[in-house]
Amino acid sequence: MDIRVLRGADVRELLPMAECVELMHRTMIAVAEGRVVLPLRSVMVMPGDLGMLGNMPGYLAEPECFGVKLVSLIPRNKPPLYSSHLGLVLLFEAEHGCPVALLDAAEITAIRTAAASGLATRLLSNPQAGDLAVLGAGEQARSHLTAMLAVRTLHRVRIWSRDSAKAAEFARVEGARHHISIETAPTAREAVADADIICTVTKARDPILLGEWLAPGAHLNVVGSSIASTAEIDTPAVVKSRFFVDYKESTRNEGGEYLRALTSGAIFAEHILGEIGEVANGSLVGRRSPSDITLYKSLGIAPQDLASAHYVLQKARAAGIGQVIDF
Ligand code: NDP
Repeated sequence: MDIRVLRGADVRELLPMAECVELMHRTMIAVAEGRVVLPLRSVMVMPGDLGMLGNMPGYLAEPECFGVKLVSLIPRNKPPLYSSHLGLVLLFEAEHGCPVALLDAAEITAIRTAAASGLATRLLSNPQAGDLAVLGAGEQARSHLTAMLAVRTLHRVRIWSRDSAKAAEFARVEGARHHISIETAPTAREAVADADIICTVTKARDPILLGEWLAPGAHLNVVGSSIASTAEIDTPAVVKSRFFVDYKESTRNEGGEYLRALTSGAIFAEHILGEIGEVANGSLVGRRSPSDITLYKSLGIAPQDLASAHYVLQKARAAGIGQVIDF
């Protein structure tokens, strides 16, 4: 039996952002139409502040495969030396259940999360939206900038980070990478003033973005909070948004911003208008008017990882990339 091992650099080479956005388009439609098996992820919390081990299994009907992503989340790790999500995606073929690939999970997570936000931005933001604000300056901030550039023509990019030196470094390095000018904003409020696309990609436990700061017509990708107890945006921001999600079931369990708004009585459960795959397949209307504020709540789901792993594996086999281990 052969298993192909693919490093982060292989994943980066074989999964360009624009291709991953198209892959997420197909994948999120499959999720919305029930052509996946998607149990809620389980998280093992280790003692003290050691961190967590996340276990994300799933099955895809097309292309048929199944597998699991296993990632550690270790708070004391300092990026960029250690990614926020370290681990592996193990992919199985469906006919005999043989494991066929083992891939770096950090790179897949960085790319597929931003690609899914790219899809949401393409579906929900105003077509001429070109003023981007990114809150946070880590790995997801980098990949989200790439994704936003892939789906919209940006004429202004602002970055805010709680550490202004990190924002400045981000602006310098990523500006050079993409041949664009990136402004640093001294506060989150100044970063989002009149922005029409906003990505929140921080590890903040409590809101860094307030609803009263949002301009009419803005689209938000709310990505950083992945557990029920944390929230990057406040309840008024949730209330005034047309609220779409990657997967309803996980939002009801882990969507911190949604749960805070629900328990405060500011919204009802119906505030979740639907999944982004339902907007992608045309069964739901996303934006109704240029002044709507739209929101995509991302928690991240296994089909995004498995579809990416399968896609990368096909390309790796064709190009002879990766290390093949016979076991
Ligand atoms: P990084 O560690 O690379 O970056 C985290 C960023 O958040 C840094 O800019 C950091 O600033 C900032 N930050 C940390 N604490 C706070 C705070 N209290 N207030 C404001 N900013 C803060 O992580 P990633 O970019 O990889 O991930 C960002 C978030 O996205 C994480 O919470 C992660 O769990 C989540 N995530 C969600 C996914 C999804 O599918 N929805 C997938 C992957 C990640 P500083 O450098 O100063 O610490």
